[in-house]
Amino acid sequence: MDFKVTKNQHPTPKLERDQILENPTFGTHFSDHQVVIVWEKDRGWHSPEVIPYGPIMMDPSSAVLHYGQEIFEGIKAYRHADGSIWTFRPTMNAARLQRSANRMALPQLPTDLFVESIRQLIAVDGDWVPEPVGEKTLYLRPFEIAAENYLGVRAANRAEYRLIASPVGPYFTEGVKPVSIWIALDSARAGKHGTGEAKTGGNYAASLMAQQDGYEQGCSQVMYLDAETSTYIEELGGMNLFFVYSDGKVVTPSLDGTILHGITRDSVITLLKDAGHEVSERKVTLDEVRKDIASGTIAEVFACGTAAVITPVGLLKSREEEIVIGNNEPGAITVALRTKLTGIQYGLVEDGHNWMHKLAD
Ligand SMILES: *Cc1c(COP(=O)(O)O)cnc(C)c1O
Repeated sequence: MDFKVTKNQHPTPKLERDQILENPTFGTHFSDHQVVIVWEKDRGWHSPEVIPYGPIMMDPSSAVLHYGQEIFEGIKAYRHADGSIWTFRPTMNAARLQRSANRMALPQLPTDLFVESIRQLIAVDGDWVPEPVGEKTLYLRPFEIAAENYLGVRAANRAEYRLIASPVGPYFTEGVKPVSIWIALDSARAGKHGTGEAKTGGNYAASLMAQQDGYEQGCSQVMYLDAETSTYIEELGGMNLFFVYSDGKVVTPSLDGTILHGITRDSVITLLKDAGHEVSERKVTLDEVRKDIASGTIAEVFACGTAAVITPVGLLKSREEEIVIGNNEPGAITVALRTKLTGIQYGLVEDGHNWMHKLAD
């Protein structure tokens, strides 16, 4: 499919863009263009376009505004030292967008079209990918919405895929520091056969109340337990969790239908195995984690996701207790893993698994 490209006649002036790229803050500035691809039930995907960045004209009856039929992805573009631009495992994001689409009764965008949409946006907005100093990247946000003007409750017969881009700075501005995590005892994120596995806005909407509680308690993230028994640790609002034992074994909650299939999670499991660690995916109870941290059997805890890459966890807190991990200092295995993964992404470390995908020279 050929993309029609309409250049922005009023792009951000270079001086202003340079200022933004100097010190980008997450999700506040956007590149000059966006991708749009339309889907209609009787035509399939058609009319892929690159157009100037700007508001979406939408009828107030548009289905997404009422019933939340929406899915999204998060992926980054990295500039390497030679100026070339790369992304990380894009076919994994394409496959996950398709799985999310299936769950939310939205159309599945073909993998080739997904990857090509990223290439097309970078072809016009490549200057928005920051220099590789201080872990800066261009964050890419692909998303799909039900875009039919109809208030009836059914899967929409018209949908739109869009892709926008926002330059981001390092998640940690003063070096990698452990975060504190609020254990949600009064709210759940995902139920059995629910939408926990789908990357859908509704899951995030449902998580914001507990996040507010967490902020009030000095915590930056929320940890969710299983909805049925409040026994098993699942994940954070937007990151997967790992537990590192003092003997080098690593455990992460298994993907039992309520946990998001993180691409960083998958990559971390592979890199840990490469380094000789035994990694098990299994059910993990809050009880055993509490005991194993107290006895020193669990030495490190970290969270991972595209935005923050790998984040050490120093404190688990709820309205009943506070559990300090490793003196609230980042663990050695966590830090080494973070260096390795970001090294691959910035082209500083050999990419032994062919994870990097070139977008532009
Ligand atoms: C996006 C997301 C993650 C992390 O996935 P990555 O592919 O590693 O970015 C983890 N949990 C939830 C709920 C998410 O939405």
